[in-house]
Amino acid sequence: MRPASAKQYAQHLNRGIPDPEEFRPGIWSFAIPFLPGVPYTLCYVIEDSANGFHVIDPGADTPSNRDRLKMNLSSIGADLGDIRSVAVTHLHRDHLGLAAWLIDQNDLALQLHVDDEEDLISGASNARYSDDLEALGLRWGVPENERKRLHTGSATAGASPIPARIRPLDDGEVLPIPGRTVRVLHTPGHTRGHVCFSLPDEGLLLSGDHVLPHLNPGIGRGGQGGENPVGEYLFSLDRLAQHDDGETAPGHGYRFFDLGARRTRIRDHVLRRAGEVAQALKSTPQATTWGLASSLSWGGGWTNLSATRLQSALAQTEMYVEFVGALPMGLHLP
Ligand SMILES: [Zn+2]
Repeated sequence: MRPASAKQYAQHLNRGIPDPEEFRPGIWSFAIPFLPGVPYTLCYVIEDSANGFHVIDPGADTPSNRDRLKMNLSSIGADLGDIRSVAVTHLHRDHLGLAAWLIDQNDLALQLHVDDEEDLISGASNARYSDDLEALGLRWGVPENERKRLHTGSATAGASPIPARIRPLDDGEVLPIPGRTVRVLHTPGHTRGHVCFSLPDEGLLLSGDHVLPHLNPGIGRGGQGGENPVGEYLFSLDRLAQHDDGETAPGHGYRFFDLGARRTRIRDHVLRRAGEVAQALKSTPQATTWGLASSLSWGGGWTNLSATRLQSALAQTEMYVEFVGALPMGLHLP
């Protein structure tokens, strides 16, 4: 895997905010600030053949980000009134946040996969962690004296505003962008309705948070739909094989080549985690989710996890237990 943009990569390494960059004729990336740990979201703007502009993943909604987006647009000769459509890869607020405001400016409908639309409206994007922490604490077997650890901190930090109008997207459909082909590729795993956007004429894949160059994406963040998110995620990774030869433009970090190598690396990481969970289950088959999770390795250490990260760790452990339990007997995990 290698960076496709030296400038963007340098800013990423310096923990800076990259400048807007036109990396294909009429296609730009804007970096929209987020949080210290995830300094920016990459928002993509595509010009159509009728002088209109289309936004993918506008970024988190703050007053200064609204100004930044307007400034970035004016630097490419556009303003808010020139925006003809807005689409997002998934429902998280670092991608969707500004969309509610943006679509209001021009009476548009936000384009979002139908499964994420459902989870956004039902509030399931937060329910996995915050709905009923007492019930979750019992289900996960969290000891009485540790339960307060689940509660401190804001569990709804990831909440997205619900846009006034939504046009649900389906796998395989093409966004209505005159003169361009931008195809929806459903890649569930990070969220139930996560999509990538493929621009075959440009040899380009907008990968959202499904594949990032520098982080292993969280799996099953939000949504409580039927399928196991770990299995879905691995399946969605394989779905991208046809894009390995092109350039990948992710939701964070920097554009890169050799998606195949990156996919392999992430896949290995997921399977290693599954192997670790399988091993822990073998040695303590009766362990609770809490017991198993506390025996796994966590960045920063198990005892230091904040409430939100602890909830996420327990939810992830539960997902992996379910995933490992559903594997065919004898399948080798690393
Ligand atoms: Zn993100």
